[in-house]
Amino acid sequence: NSPIRAVDPEIAGLLDRELERQREGLEMIASENFVPRAVLQAQGSVLTNKYAEGYPGRRYYGGCEWVDRVESIARTRACDLFGAQYANVQPHAGAQANAAVYQALIEPGDTVLGLALDHGGHLTHGMKINFSGRFYRAESYGVNPETFRIDPEIIRRRALETHPALIIGGWSAYPRIEDFQAMKEIADEVGARFWVDMAHFAGLVAAGLHPSPVPWADVVSSTAHKTLGGPRSGFILARKEYGKKIDSAVFPGNQGGPLMHVVAAKAVAFKLAGTAEFKDRMARTLEGARILAERLMAPDLAARGITVLTGGTDVHLVMVDLRESDMDGRQGEDLLARVGITVNRNTVPFDPRPASVSSGLRIGTSALATRGFGAAEYEEVADIIGTALAAGRGADVDALRARVDRLVEDFPLYPGLVQTD
Ligand code: PLP
Repeated sequence: NSPIRAVDPEIAGLLDRELERQREGLEMIASENFVPRAVLQAQGSVLTNKYAEGYPGRRYYGGCEWVDRVESIARTRACDLFGAQYANVQPHAGAQANAAVYQALIEPGDTVLGLALDHGGHLTHGMKINFSGRFYRAESYGVNPETFRIDPEIIRRRALETHPALIIGGWSAYPRIEDFQAMKEIADEVGARFWVDMAHFAGLVAAGLHPSPVPWADVVSSTAHKTLGGPRSGFILARKEYGKKIDSAVFPGNQGGPLMHVVAAKAVAFKLAGTAEFKDRMARTLEGARILAERLMAPDLAARGITVLTGGTDVHLVMVDLRESDMDGRQGEDLLARVGITVNRNTVPFDPRPASVSSGLRIGTSALATRGFGAAEYEEVADIIGTALAAGRGADVDALRARVDRLVEDFPLYPGLVQTD
């Protein structure tokens, strides 16, 4: 029972380095967040030792009395938080949740219709070499080429052309709130099921700051670790009638034993997401994204061909459009990394550059809200990013890095935490 520092100093050292990296930079990858210490504790607990194939009260292993309680609490909390009739909290990650949704709702070879990957959709919504594109006939809808927004008329036209069995809402790199009711009506019109993958904006939904897909979608899937701020994992919500099919699609359809330590961590995260403190965090997340979008639409950036897709944001992320700029996505990502800010490059719709380089940056504000940022700090970080991108190769990296250092010092991450004792 020696501590990791004694057993495996090599890995312990790398854990320390990663904590240091997270503490010393500004994390603005839109899909990332910092879990509360209570979530870390649940996830690092002895529940990792327990096999619990099956569901509470119906397990294929003995000794499940305590993990049964944990999973039942997690399910109830997920239902309460999102106003859902049914929840499955076992998916190991978002991709596994989505695989189970397909298996529960449609048959291999059926047609599905989701947002195109290069317009902001996710791999599991029909990418060619993903299971979703290999086992199902994947069709896609794009954004409106004028507004760059998702347009119900385009979805409707594509649905009438392709006759999908399943229409997919939800996205990974898209900055706007869209109309789930309109999508449900299209699904009804063409006789399709309607599924929303709310992985990115689940925290905003939980806080009541984004319309919920739950009243409209047949099934809603999500990750727990993006805006929602829980452990890296997935879950599924649905109307009661789909419960049995989803349960068997998750286990034994796609997974073996659930990761009960992660299920416990999800339960903690669902509890925290119902608090006033969480709602305040989500409100700061949104405010930060609006401040960032505004700064990135200023004349100094426009002069360099840099703008913001859709002219703003309704959610936790901003999509920077570099199509008209001589700086590509990779160069933008690298420049911000040198300043101490982590973002990811991303294709934008109708991107003239290859995906490996791309013409977009996806910048998210949730992790910094968790760190404590409010309007004043977002103004500062927005100006650091704006100044860096406007200057490009000529940016004064040292001066900008010094401004990042001040923010980092003022908002310490996991104060006092030593993870390798
Ligand atoms: N769904 C959406 C919309 C996502 O953005 C992501 C992750 O990026 C996933 C699903 C997949 O989640 P995971 O990485 O946990 O498999």
